[in-house]
Amino acid sequence: MRQRFQRFMSGRYGADQLSRVLMFIALAFLILSFFPIFRFFYLIAIVIMVYTYFRMFSRNVQKRYAENQKFLNWKYKLVVKKDQRRKRWEQRKIYRFFNCPNCKQTVRVPRGKGKICITCPKCRTEFVRKS
Ligand SMILES: [Zn+2]
Repeated sequence: MRQRFQRFMSGRYGADQLSRVLMFIALAFLILSFFPIFRFFYLIAIVIMVYTYFRMFSRNVQKRYAENQKFLNWKYKLVVKKDQRRKRWEQRKIYRFFNCPNCKQTVRVPRGKGKICITCPKCRTEFVRKS
């Protein structure tokens, strides 16, 4: 039985970080569906599970790998953003943060200096803001 399963899985993609997260989400939906108002979540859980199994048994390993890579990138960016927000919050009394009107780069300036001319470090655009 185990051998047969191994033979079945050979050349197929298998589990990865994305499928683990998807399974977790499906499980969460399934648990929520026990509450009468969320009954339809049961369907969503099934759809997610079917998709996860489709990915695990897929023979298009490259495409599945790319999907997982995309997911990992997205997760990494989320962690970085969260860290940035935390740092900004800690510095809120000493600094002000502005976005460059030209390239959207975030610029940090000291607080309480009145109206100042800010030069974007990335594209050299100058803009005036009250600090
Ligand atoms: Zn700029």
